[in-house]
Amino acid sequence: MRRSLVAANWKMHGSREFVEELLGALTRELATQSEEVEIVVCPPSPYLSLCKEILRSSPVLLGAQNAHEASSGAYTGEVAAQMLNDFDVAMVIIGHSERRALFAETDAQIAAKCQSVVAQGMSPILCVGETLQEREAGQAEAVVARQLNAVLEALPIASMSDAVIAYEPVWAIGTGKTATPAQAQEMHAFIRSLLAKRDSVMAENMRILYGGSVNASNAAQLFAEQDIDGGLVGGASLKPEEFITICKSVSK
Ligand code: PEP
Repeated sequence: MRRSLVAANWKMHGSREFVEELLGALTRELATQSEEVEIVVCPPSPYLSLCKEILRSSPVLLGAQNAHEASSGAYTGEVAAQMLNDFDVAMVIIGHSERRALFAETDAQIAAKCQSVVAQGMSPILCVGETLQEREAGQAEAVVARQLNAVLEALPIASMSDAVIAYEPVWAIGTGKTATPAQAQEMHAFIRSLLAKRDSVMAENMRILYGGSVNASNAAQLFAEQDIDGGLVGGASLKPEEFITICKSVSK
């Protein structure tokens, strides 16, 4: 059975005071979180050390938002997977649509990033998803298949056993527009069918998160779908009460 996962993507938000306040509330409220759900927070890199300290006796895991594909080198401003590992990072968001669109990350680069993350024993949260234009052109499944297969073809399938996939339709990210539970379920089932073509056991065990304007009001309905194993949450993860409600919306 798949354990649900709720991941908080703080993006480039926060300050020392904000981190202390938000994680203080989360650790208090989620100290006795249900075994059913795993929670990971992905702060901006400068706050990893502070978050690691605050989370040290909490079940809430530490994540990161990006990792460079190289293990070290002249890449000013970048962070290597190995460096994240030094802070006990468990999961790393890879291929977020903002990285694909604003930083021109390619499928090949995203595959290499996943490789660097799994080589460090961490789990990539691989983001895939179509734009509105692609959906309207009937290309949503083809785009998601291309993004996913680029990674599955580059890495030995066994190395992806602890990975997580996040289906994030670009038109739903930060827009307040959410995919309907039926739309999301349809794509999640499609993603699982693509995984099953390579390894049916892995497909059954792989957690597939939905991301795109998840909030306290829509989380329970989305998470109730058979192939939706939790959420990747942006804006709502910055509001402690709302994020806690989302974490508690996991009912499977
Ligand atoms: C995200 O950044 O991954 C995301 C899903 O953002 P939001 O929840 O704000 O749409």
